[in-house]
Amino acid sequence: MEIITKQSPLGANNVSPAPPPLPGPSTNCRRKGLFMNNGTAIRGNSCVSTATRDLWDNLFNGGYRADVTIKTDNGGIIYAHANVLGMASPVLRGMLKQAKGFGQKRSISIHGVPQDAVRVFIRFLYSSCYEKEEMKEFFAPLLVLSHAYVVPQLKLICEQQLEHGLLTLENVVDIFQLSLLCDAPRLSLISHRMILRNFKAISATEGWKAMKKSHPALEKEIVETVIEEENMQKEKIRKSNERKIYLQLCEAMEALVHICRDGCRTIGPHDKDFKKNQIPCNYGACKGIELLVRHFAGCKLKVPGGCIHCKRMWQLLKLHSRLCADSNSCKVPLCRTFKEKIRKQRKKDEIKWKILVKKILRAKRTREAHRSLCPQIPSLHEKQSGLLVPDSLVNLI
Ligand SMILES: [Zn+2]
Ligand SMILES: [Zn+2]
Ligand SMILES: [Zn+2]
Repeated sequence: MEIITKQSPLGANNVSPAPPPLPGPSTNCRRKGLFMNNGTAIRGNSCVSTATRDLWDNLFNGGYRADVTIKTDNGGIIYAHANVLGMASPVLRGMLKQAKGFGQKRSISIHGVPQDAVRVFIRFLYSSCYEKEEMKEFFAPLLVLSHAYVVPQLKLICEQQLEHGLLTLENVVDIFQLSLLCDAPRLSLISHRMILRNFKAISATEGWKAMKKSHPALEKEIVETVIEEENMQKEKIRKSNERKIYLQLCEAMEALVHICRDGCRTIGPHDKDFKKNQIPCNYGACKGIELLVRHFAGCKLKVPGGCIHCKRMWQLLKLHSRLCADSNSCKVPLCRTFKEKIRKQRKKDEIKWKILVKKILRAKRTREAHRSLCPQIPSLHEKQSGLLVPDSLVNLI
């Protein structure tokens, strides 16, 4: 049989077989159902022709002058060549050195995984090839074999195949444990994340139940992490909601100053004539504050505690006066009066107000920083049009 190996790295007179092709850039390396490395055809220069790989596959399948027998589970035997095994795996090389045999023939054993998985593993040592279906069926034993016999190319393929589709809710607990045993940190991380993300579904699987029995400490650790993550998530939501409230208050304060200073839509400025043809207002919270101001002006009850809207208005006015830098020139009603009162206020009450003012100012600074990075960010009130002064204000003060 004439074999054309144009790109063979060996000279024609070299009698020793070329080592199995290493994973790397290759073209023409894909046949129907045949995959190289990560299961895809790789672009670039071909390092090994299809014919070369066929040769290596045929050498394994045909067992031509095989000098090693590999004993597997259930009495199975696979024939192989010591040269190839020894070149492809340092562990197999060591085993072959110590192996007992008759004449040139030697015998080693690979137990604990299905015979077909061992066959796929040994074939890979010859040609770096595997069938997609076989990988689907034997990814777990192949991961173990590639780790135990130090075949990093195959280990990487197993990890990639799992990462890109073979990892499922059903097998992820087993794979997580395997990845820890096989020292595959990326796979550990990916499967751990998958478990955390789908904890409810995964904790009902057989794999989880089995792990609970065999590795209770690991199960406990995962459960604790899940609880920790949930708490962190809750805290994040709580903080984000809190930030929103302070930002709403901050925008309400700005709108209040704007209405009293410039006038807007239906309310004229404090000391000037009201102009109907004003340019559109830029203050998101303006509409809500304007309704509140109009209500406040007309409400018969108008006492703190007498009407919920008026109560809010009082609180907004008080809050403004605490935030206001220059009460003397301020147009907001009662700004100066409240400033005077603050001086006489009890200390305990004042602390509450100070904390609120601090939080609003912090929310404002955060918003300014965000806006400088992304000027398109709309205000909270623009996003939630029609939103009035937050109810939360009543609860905060
Ligand atoms: Zn306005
Ligand atoms: Zn009222
Ligand atoms: Zn003021």
